[in-house]
Amino acid sequence: MGEYDVIILGAGPAGLTAAIYATRAALKTLVLTGNLLGGQAALTTEIENYPGFPEVISGPELTQRLQKQAEKFGAEIVMEEATAVDLGEHPFLVRTLAQAYRGKTLIVATGASPRRLGVPGEAELIGRGVSFCATCDGYFFRDREVAVVGGGDSAVKEALFLAKLVRKVYLIHRRDRLRAEAVSQKQVLEHPRIEVLWNTVVTEIVGKGAVEGLRLRDLRTGAEAFLKVAGVFIYIGHVPNTALFQGKLALDEEGYIVTDRAMHTSVPGVFAAGAVQERILDQLVTAVATGAIAAMEAEKFLAQLQGRGHPGWGGKT
Ligand code: NAP
Repeated sequence: MGEYDVIILGAGPAGLTAAIYATRAALKTLVLTGNLLGGQAALTTEIENYPGFPEVISGPELTQRLQKQAEKFGAEIVMEEATAVDLGEHPFLVRTLAQAYRGKTLIVATGASPRRLGVPGEAELIGRGVSFCATCDGYFFRDREVAVVGGGDSAVKEALFLAKLVRKVYLIHRRDRLRAEAVSQKQVLEHPRIEVLWNTVVTEIVGKGAVEGLRLRDLRTGAEAFLKVAGVFIYIGHVPNTALFQGKLALDEEGYIVTDRAMHTSVPGVFAAGAVQERILDQLVTAVATGAIAAMEAEKFLAQLQGRGHPGWGGKT
């Protein structure tokens, strides 16, 4: 059974940044990627607001770069998913389907998964017209009509991406105002191939073997309608991936891991970073920042364990 100074669960921007910082602090570091290397960023078509990248960078490209950087400094990145953790013994125990690992510290960066609508037809038609990733599936709908559900940054950005490919995008939002940042709202509202359906919810996704359309309800009038589309992209927020930590770490009422400002969880030696704990500003910059903090706090914890006091990290770049 391999033993590591740090085991990082999750390989999105938070986890991979934690790996960069941990390995540069000479910590023996294992990253268990889970089922999606790159996390939410890997599903993002164009990242326009990451400082230092005035040209758009794609989520998959950023992921590749982060992975390369972490591996360059010696991180071991393994395509396995943690299936059980034991935080009651130290070093902590992490099991995957294939094996078990021990870590003197853990950084939980398991991120969050797309929230589902929970309407009839959704589960059955995933991969058959129901998608949570325009980057992955958009090309299948070239020159057809699709819907995007949601009014936040993800829905708006991905509607703009899809509008480059498809004939028409219906953006379906439950309110009369978008939540997304102003610059992209303007682009969506002015786009000739995007039509916003305000105050509208999807009540059913219809199709035999593939999506044929959506049943909609207008929340103001109660009127029902059928919208013929070949695909529906759902961007209605996320739920944190914390099932593994129920009863083991303090979680808030929505299931996010509770941390202090230094990313410490309720168990000493266990840290959390990125979307699995972020509630104030769920962005790439905060994901990478919290990943870096978690790694440096893990180093501090290990130094204290060894009784040599923390060497400090000022000046390390
Ligand atoms: P979000 O900001 O939480 O927005 C979710 C949207 O889905 C909201 O408009 C919400 O409606 C709607 N919604 C939630 N539950 C729904 C339901 N059951 N049925 C119908 N609609 C529902 O989520 P997000 O867009 O995925 O963004 C997550 C975070 O990442 C945000 O902090 C966002 O700023 C950030 N992000 C930033 C960028 C960027 O380029 N800056 C890109 C992507 C994501 P209401 O508005 O009525 O609540």
